[in-house]
Amino acid sequence: MPKTPVKYNKDEIWNLLSEVKDPEIPVLSILELGIAREVTIENDKVVVQITPTYSGCPAMNAIENEIEKVLRVNGIQDFEVNKDFSETWTTDWMTDKAKQKLKEYGIAPPGKTDTDDDFLNSLKSSSKIIPCPYCDSTNTELQSEFGSTACKAQYYCHDCDEPFEHFKCI
Ligand SMILES: [Zn+2]
Repeated sequence: MPKTPVKYNKDEIWNLLSEVKDPEIPVLSILELGIAREVTIENDKVVVQITPTYSGCPAMNAIENEIEKVLRVNGIQDFEVNKDFSETWTTDWMTDKAKQKLKEYGIAPPGKTDTDDDFLNSLKSSSKIIPCPYCDSTNTELQSEFGSTACKAQYYCHDCDEPFEHFKCI
């Protein structure tokens, strides 16, 4: 009998990772956000590759801890969580479903960053219009480039008189 039982396959690891939510957006998993990039299993060692989102986002440490916790709780001792900086995370890696969930959570989702330059420029200018996630009104106003975290901007909807956050595009 070969003494190399592979206890977990990749799919099972992906399943475990899907339980890890962004601490700032508890409705979204790190899979939906596109943070978890790759799972490899080498000699029973599980290697999880993650690409940090906004640099310096304090949530990344929490996410890393959470990944380690989930793996440990499920009896995986031999693992490594690697941060991959070779690619830059962009909001385009978010799935459409994730953007929909974000909206339902009351955060205006990011648009596409690569559709065309005019659109990108309009997002970068201070006059960008972000529709309200509650009523879809475009009668909204930027109140602060930084909401509860650096990843979000604070907006106000003049139609439903509610403040909301917008997950910024990068
Ligand atoms: Zn509104």
